[in-house]
Amino acid sequence: MPELPEVETIRRGLERNLVGARIGEVLVREPRLRRPVDVPALRSLSGRTVRAVGRRAKYLLADVGDGLVWLMHLGMSGRLLLVPPDEPAGDHEHVRVEFDRPTSLRYRDPRRFGWMRVGRAETFEELAGLGPEPLGEEIGGEALRTRLRGTRRDIKAALLDQRVIAGIGNIYVNEILFRAGVRPTRRTHRVRAPELERIAKETRTVLADAVERRGTSFSDYFDSDGIPGTFQDVLSVFDRTGLPCRRCGTSIKRRPQGGRSSFYCPSCQL
Ligand code: ZN
Repeated sequence: MPELPEVETIRRGLERNLVGARIGEVLVREPRLRRPVDVPALRSLSGRTVRAVGRRAKYLLADVGDGLVWLMHLGMSGRLLLVPPDEPAGDHEHVRVEFDRPTSLRYRDPRRFGWMRVGRAETFEELAGLGPEPLGEEIGGEALRTRLRGTRRDIKAALLDQRVIAGIGNIYVNEILFRAGVRPTRRTHRVRAPELERIAKETRTVLADAVERRGTSFSDYFDSDGIPGTFQDVLSVFDRTGLPCRRCGTSIKRRPQGGRSSFYCPSCQL
């Protein structure tokens, strides 16, 4: 599932290739995404120019002028690819957008958990209530403590809560907690101030490193040019069950937590 670094990498690719481009034909081949595509609204993009491509949490927001925004979310398996216009439609290709330049944007999504819509940014209820951007704003330990106040859930669930911090998913939360030396199952009210400070700092550095490496690719993530990321080569704990900890040599453990897998080093994380 694309998290902040993957979505940011795609954003950069779209920005590089599409800003200033005028949108041509919009073809919706399959409107039944997680939310049905409003086909006339999407087709009304035709003739508009892409002014900028932004990101908020895991959402992509293309500014198409007059206060209108084309919002895209990749869900679990969505991909946005820029290909030559004559490239035949790939598998699970649901939306295709042409431009006044030799590139064609294809939305492919086998599981169809992604979606897109067009409207005014201030009317997008999915953006309301999102927590701060971990890369854009300085989130210190004290700010994190304030945001976690009154909750007794485990620290991992709290960091995955998009209202606490926006953009973190299961891969990066495991990496952040490893680097901070805190077990994913620790209750938030038992995380001490210096540990919170480390979590805040590592949130920033893990995500920044992952953007630098253009995201993490296992099987289904590629950027808009079809190139995989490389953060999987430097993962400390995620998907490393039974392998030696890169810091101390202890076997990495996996346990189910909140419906997903948690990975941690039992020696380095307390
Ligand atoms: Zn270790």
